[in-house]
Amino acid sequence: MSEQVEADAPSSGVFGELVGQEKVVEQLQTAVASTPAHAWLFTGPPGSGRSNAARAFAAALNCEAGDGCGACRTCELILSGTHPAVSMVSTENVTYRIEDVRELVTTAQDRPQGAEWRVIVIEDADRMTERATNVLLKAIEEPPPRTIWVLCAPSPRMCSSPSVRGATGQSAHSSG
Ligand SMILES: [Zn+2]
Repeated sequence: MSEQVEADAPSSGVFGELVGQEKVVEQLQTAVASTPAHAWLFTGPPGSGRSNAARAFAAALNCEAGDGCGACRTCELILSGTHPAVSMVSTENVTYRIEDVRELVTTAQDRPQGAEWRVIVIEDADRMTERATNVLLKAIEEPPPRTIWVLCAPSPRMCSSPSVRGATGQSAHSSG
């Protein structure tokens, strides 16, 4: 999208399309370079790029070059949404059903195939009933060693439970 990308700019690779979100990119790159938290809350209105940020984060975590090059096979599969270790979950219903959340929790127990990290991105995480949230929270509090949860919501305030914010170790806000 951007026509001016410097070769050594920190926003090259999978983070390149997160234009104007330098703070988020920096935060995610720091996490990728160290030991990332097991649960993240990505906030921003729908269309703010929070799902792109989540996908880029998943790619960078598993990148064969180690930093989200955007060119290796793993990056390509994750960015195109076809890597089995990365789940982008959304619902067409008003709320997530508790069965859906239980299924995700089961998926989270599996070791990632062909990747370092299993990443489960839940779009519209604010659309969860209290019961579903509780099931999710229990899973987040006892994370499998190779699984990272990313919850996307319009704002921290709109996430149905304050404990979601408590359980998520890190948050990143997409404003653009
Ligand atoms: Zn890569």
